[in-house]
Formats: sequence, C-alpha cells, structure tokens
Amino acid sequence: MERVARRILVAAAMCFFCGGGTLGQTAKAPARLDVDLREAPKRIFHAKLTLPVTAGSLTLVYPKWIPGEHAPTGPIVNLTGLFLRVGGQEIAWRRDEVDMYAVHCDIPSGTSELEVSLDFVSPSAAVGRENPSATAQLALLNWYMVLLYPQGAKSDDLTYTASLRVPSGWKYGTALEVASESSDAIEFKPVSLTMLVDSPVLTASHMRTIDLSPGQKPEHHIHIAAESELGLEVPPETVQQWRQLVAETGALFGARHYRHYDFLLSVTDNMEVDGVEHHESSDNRVPGRIFQDESIAESMTDLLPHEFTHSWNGKYRRPKGLATPNYQEPMKGGLLWVYEGMTQYWGTILSARIGTFTPEKLRENLAWVAAYLDKRAGRVWRDLEDTAISSQVVYSSPQEYRSWRREADYYDESTLIWLEADTIIRKESGGKKSLDDFCRSFEGGENNGPKVMPYTFEDVVAALNTVWPYDWKKFFTDRLESHGPGAPLGGLENSGWKLIYNDTPNDNRMAQELPQHLTDLQFSLGILVHEGGGEGGDEIIDVNPGSPAAQAGIAPGMKLVAVNGRRWSTGELRATIRRARGGSEPIELLVENEDFFRTYRVDYHGGERYPHLQRIEGKPDLLSEIAKMKAPAVAAAKD
Ligand SMILES: [Zn+2]
Repeated sequence: MERVARRILVAAAMCFFCGGGTLGQTAKAPARLDVDLREAPKRIFHAKLTLPVTAGSLTLVYPKWIPGEHAPTGPIVNLTGLFLRVGGQEIAWRRDEVDMYAVHCDIPSGTSELEVSLDFVSPSAAVGRENPSATAQLALLNWYMVLLYPQGAKSDDLTYTASLRVPSGWKYGTALEVASESSDAIEFKPVSLTMLVDSPVLTASHMRTIDLSPGQKPEHHIHIAAESELGLEVPPETVQQWRQLVAETGALFGARHYRHYDFLLSVTDNMEVDGVEHHESSDNRVPGRIFQDESIAESMTDLLPHEFTHSWNGKYRRPKGLATPNYQEPMKGGLLWVYEGMTQYWGTILSARIGTFTPEKLRENLAWVAAYLDKRAGRVWRDLEDTAISSQVVYSSPQEYRSWRREADYYDESTLIWLEADTIIRKESGGKKSLDDFCRSFEGGENNGPKVMPYTFEDVVAALNTVWPYDWKKFFTDRLESHGPGAPLGGLENSGWKLIYNDTPNDNRMAQELPQHLTDLQFSLGILVHEGGGEGGDEIIDVNPGSPAAQAGIAPGMKLVAVNGRRWSTGELRATIRRARGGSEPIELLVENEDFFRTYRVDYHGGERYPHLQRIEGKPDLLSEIAKMKAPAVAAAKD
C-alpha cells in the first residue's frame, strides 16, 4: 500500500510539471480558507477554500499522513459536501481510482481562482482511529480536516490565510496569531500550510486561559475548555506544577523553539483521551472529572509533560523519515524510539521533577512498565525496532493477544533504555554529565521560532558521544534488535533499584485500572480483564502466553462470568487468589466463549503478585537524583 501510494505521487508530480503547471498558488498568492464552526454542536464543520489556479488539469489532495499520528490517518471518510466552482459555476471532479485522497479536475481557461466548499463530519464516538472533534459544548479544529492542497506541493511553500467563525459566545485558544477579530469572525495572520496544520484551534462555551510563565518571554498559556464551569476549576497546586514544568523544560533544554506556547486542554468525557504534539501548542484531551478525581488525575500525570517535550523532541529535532515535505509523502517511523521513546522517558521524569509524581509514584510507575514489558511474550518474534517501523499500523491493533503481538512498545520500553543511557553517562562521568547534557546539546541550541532539524541514527550516536564517549551504536542496536527474553532492566539496576513482586497492589497501576475499569492480574493468573458490563460483558482482553490461565486453556476474547461458582468481581477474584495461596485446589473460572460456557481449572497457588522497585543496598540512588527538581521552584499559584 505504501509503495503504491508513493508511485502514484511520483507519476502525478512528473505529469504535473511536464504539463506546463497548473499550480497558481505561491506565497504571494495565498490560498484563503474560511471555516465556519457555528454548527459544531451538530458535529459538522463547514469550509470554503479559495485557491489561486491556472488553466489545465489539476489534482487536489486531502492530507493523508498526519504529523504526530505517524500514520496515514487523514480522516478522508469524514470529508463530505465537496463542490468545486469557478466564477460561480460548478465544475466536475473525479476521485483518483487508486489514491483515495486525490481528486482530479480541469480548470477552464481564463480562470485564476478555484472555489472549493466542503464539510467535515465529526463522529460522535470513536470508530477505529476516527475520534470525535466536537461535542455539544466544545470543538477542536485541526485545519487538515477542512482543506485540500495541490498535489506535489511542499507544505512549507504554500501560504494560507484562514478565518474562523465560532458559535455565538464561544471563546477560543490557539497558537495561531490573530490579525483581526470581530463579532463575526476571527481573521488569522497568513501562515505556511505547515504552520496552519500544526496549529489547531480549541473553542468552547466554557473556557479559561491561565498564564503559565507570568512576566516572562516567550509566553506560555494553557487554554482549558470544558462542558461546564465546574470542569474549569483547576486546583492551584496543579497550576503551580504546570508553571514548574515550563521552568523545568528551560533547565533541561536551555532553549525554546517557539514564539509562544499554547497548551490546549479539552476536559470532557465526550471525546477520546488523547494527546497530539505541535511545535507551538499541543492538543490534550482528558476525562471530564480530572480536577475532581485523584485517580483520573494520576492516570493522566505525564500527558502535558510528554506533549510539551515533543516541541523539542519530535517537532524541532525530527527523524529524517518523519520530516516529510507534505502530507501525502509516506512517513518512516524507524526512529520513533527516539521521537516517542525519549519523550516518554522525559514525560515520566519531568512529572517527577515538577512533583506530580512523588518519588514513590515514580518508582511504582517504572516498576509496572518494567514488569509488563518483562513479560512480553512477543519479543521472541518481534524486536523493538519492528514495533517502531510498523507504527503506521500498531496504534490500531486490537487488544487481544497484546503480549504476543507487541504494540507501540517503543514508548515504554524506550523509557527503560533511555534510563539506562542516562545512568551510564552519570556513572561513567562520576556524576559530571547526564542525559540532560545530551538534551541541551542535541535539542537546545538557539532560541528560535518553529524550525525542523532532521536527524539520523548516526546523528544521535555522534551527539551522545560528544556528551560521553561510549559504544552507543552497539548499545542501541543490541536493545533494538534483541529477541532475547525479558525487558532491558539495566537502567533500573544502574539507578540503584531492582524489580520485585509481592502481594501489595502497585499503586500507580491501580490509579490507571480504576478509571479504565481494568483488573490486571497478568503477574499471577496471567490475565487482564476489562469490566465492560452490559452487552459487552467482562472481557478477558489478554492472557500472557505460558501463564497459569493460558495453560488452563483460557484465551483473550473470552468473557469472565464466575470465580469458584460465584459471579466474578474484581474483589472476589483477588480474594480467591489470596485464599488459594499455598493450597492444592485449582481456581475455577467460568468463562463464556461466544455462545458456549465452560469452567476452566487454573492450577495457581502463588498468591497475588504485583511489581515494585526495591532498593539495591550499597548502590547509589541515581533514580532519586534524576527525579530531583532542577529549576528554581516557582511561586505558589493563586489562580
Ligand atoms: Zn508522543
């Protein structure tokens, strides 16, 4: 599929330039994009695009490869109501029969402007990777959803002047700079197509903006949108932690690559939890009760630190294969263990440095990550690098057989690998150097606006060697290509901690399990159960190969009904495992497999087992050193 798409792109571009050129769009003749979100609560966005053109055949494309999603997820299925007009007269268009994202048309002679009108329909619930972009009370506009551009053009070379109408009384937040504003519409300053696509707009009836670096340049703001005023009530200590995050990134990277930074935060249960990075902003979507419910807040701890880190690691410094000239050129994800993996490491560590993770919570988080990856059965057939190379498909993997499939493991497993790199630099340099120095030299540099500096694997190795000489090429290659059993746990051990199991539930995992309705018993029986209730039932979403449950015959996709003859619940199942400890009677699980019921006898007597970190006596506690606040503490927030 990828090769076909690429061939078509090349063929079309050749024919395009040989044909004398129909691309009338230049920086001097910008496209105009007028978007109307007044019907956003009805989940339909209207757009009118005016493109400068010249006569001849023209192919327009809808963005397919969406930055930050590392996949061809452009929501073409939601593009509706497409009409092309010149001088008020409708002209015909025809979709390419192979490339679903391309439409062909003929521009009549004497024409300099093409008018395109289109609608974007937002799904009301998630379908695959199609997520809602609007609710009754708020909307998130990604400009790529409502535009076309000439095939073959580079997004840096195209200029778009955009305007936006929002429902009456709604406010908005975006990194885009405003040229003028009236009660009728917001007019943005002209920007490249790259910047437009990279600058979503959040708009809502209930919205507030908080300054996260008062009195400083560049400015940082968070724009919070919610379904009600209650959703906007942020605890002052959270605001203080966000301000500390701004300070900590300054200490970590030493430079900023944006003119100003705008966090967009959608607080709603009517969108999917998500986070997408941009150069000067990020699109963060969290559950509606995040500021009222501690376990929801804990399950979202690293979201803002992760997405913010991407401004440096992912947007400014970007793997060559992901720095594509436009949205039709396929992306190559082989270096996502740096782009996403090191971001995951810093998202976790920055959460500790700003205090949203206490030292205990940080250890519980790392213990769980290390433990579940240590049990990944699929590493015998699939190495870590392959999970990154296949990023364009792994995000949509079904949950069943997760341990055997592996999924986007380049996030969490790279946390362990970058921790190991950090501890090697710290140990070998006697504490004089650390991965912070690598970040400053590789991702810091000049204070500049949005800019992309592509890199290769060799560039990462060379930059690490300037911080501390080591065989970094072998270090990463061994871990990326390993088919050996077990997760890379060297970083934990270097940092003075080892992975252990006991019968006390992992605190950080419990905070994730509660809002997600999960019961994670993968380290004892070997199963992960989702309490769906109702029609979906309580599904066993994974069974670790070789575990007691797997040996008894239980498989993912089955539904759990009863435990030792009694209707199952999380509490009942955990209590049964405790009671069976050291005994000889098997635990009986009544399971529904489509229309058939069967009791499986699980021969397990090891009791409850949950992962934790335990101090290695005599070794320096580097983990606590890494997790310490590095910037001066910001003042308490009064907001
Ligand atoms: Zn990310």
